[in-house]
Amino acid sequence: MSNSIHKLLVANRGEIAVRIIRAAQALGIPTVAACSEADAQSLPARLADEVRIIGPARADKSYLNAEALLQAARDSGANAIHPGYGFLSENAAFAQAVVEAGLIFVGPGADTIRRMGDKAEARRTARAAGVPVVPGSPGELDDLASALACAETVGYPLLIKASAGGGGRGIRIAHDAAELSREFPLAQREAQAAFGSDAVYLERFIRQARHIEVQILGDGQHAVHLFERECSLQRRRQKVFEEAPSPVLTAEQRQALCESAVRLARDIGYRGAGTLEYLFDSHSGEFFFIEMNTRIQVEHPISEMITGIDLVQWMLRIAGGESLSLRQDDIHIQGAALEMRINAEDPARNFFPSPGLVEELVWPQGEGIRVESHLFEGYRVPAYYDSLLAKLVVHGGDRAEAFARAEAALDATRLTGMATTIALHRLLLADPAVRDGQFDTGTLEPWLAERAALLAPAAPEA
Ligand code: ADP
Ligand code: ADP
Ligand code: MG
Repeated sequence: MSNSIHKLLVANRGEIAVRIIRAAQALGIPTVAACSEADAQSLPARLADEVRIIGPARADKSYLNAEALLQAARDSGANAIHPGYGFLSENAAFAQAVVEAGLIFVGPGADTIRRMGDKAEARRTARAAGVPVVPGSPGELDDLASALACAETVGYPLLIKASAGGGGRGIRIAHDAAELSREFPLAQREAQAAFGSDAVYLERFIRQARHIEVQILGDGQHAVHLFERECSLQRRRQKVFEEAPSPVLTAEQRQALCESAVRLARDIGYRGAGTLEYLFDSHSGEFFFIEMNTRIQVEHPISEMITGIDLVQWMLRIAGGESLSLRQDDIHIQGAALEMRINAEDPARNFFPSPGLVEELVWPQGEGIRVESHLFEGYRVPAYYDSLLAKLVVHGGDRAEAFARAEAALDATRLTGMATTIALHRLLLADPAVRDGQFDTGTLEPWLAERAALLAPAAPEA
């Protein structure tokens, strides 16, 4: 049992740190919360067995500071590090440094992160596994001349995408050669500044596509899928509202999609939890791989709700050397689940960040309701980090019941002290097209523009 986890350092913050601590506790693993100074009094700090301050508020001095995290692990006697999502979770050099320090990185090996984290390289790997990719450049493009030549076969409109991009950033559209000529050098420069690499590639822009992704779990030897998540409701290429399973796939399409993901996972000997993202054309029924996230994803709970499988516990068990005892035939879809991301953003002011002090807080409760959050009354949301406050997750016996429970859950929620996206979710749940599953990745932004007035807060109190 020398490779099992006996103490876990949680190298993240917010709701995902709480989620990881809870999974570790369920497995009897003591935890250490690695916190910035701004998070010293946070809920993860309270829930963990120990706290280590890793640096000042700024993420580059704390949650992105690999050396400080390794030192915190050494000082606390932790032998494993869970990176959560964002921050260093897809940083191959960090994963490698963790292993070189004699610790367990809860996630795939550095080689896998490097290979799949480079989006152009991931496309090549997917193609080699027989998984269809969006038509685009064979790999990275070094200069404008080769981009213009390649664009003739890819076709316009197309996207210029940063190989190292993520979080919805590093993507630009070009409708013709003139726009490509203008945007290409800007995309390279922006990629260099934001992601430390100027590598970019081209992809055909697929209109009216749905974002559907497949959750997989592997132990390096074998892999299974936990079906798909529908994540088409996006703003600025970031997910806002997700559901599982997708309301549009036929059983045959679901099987083909999920099996392609498992094939790719097996091909690369994937270890841990991962997600393969696809664009799905509901008119033709075709799907195209876009990228892989080699980490736990924000929206993982909806897959847990429909399968009854705890993904974060499995990440820890696999990292601790256990083999995956789940068999594909034992994993079934039970009902439907929705996730509403509650952000400290003001939908009436173009989603302007609105961190503040949590004044009143009441979470909903009852059958099929799950809240993932680090908030408590009196907590001050720091302005330094991501705006995610909570994920309201609901599960129902079918999609209609999930929607009904979601509405009841929103009505029972009381969160004052800052503007949030709760009002937006109310409108989404009531929208006939959303209830009908009739939307794609281009739906939400114009929908929001039309409803700006409805999202405005009630007249300010005198
Ligand atoms: P998910 O794919 O799990 O829905 P998101 O795309 O919302 O996740 O990203 C989760 C967090 O990780 C966000 O804070 C996002 O900004 C951050 N993130 C994701 N990829 C990158 C990246 N390549 N560089 C920097 N931050 C990233
Ligand atoms: P990130 O790494 O930032 O998550 P993705 O490649 O996953 O970037 O793309 C983010 C979102 O951008 C997708 O969910 C989709 O809405 C949109 N998108 C990406 N590629 C395409 C494409 N080829 N055509 C149309 N939309 C796309
Ligand atoms: Mg993505």
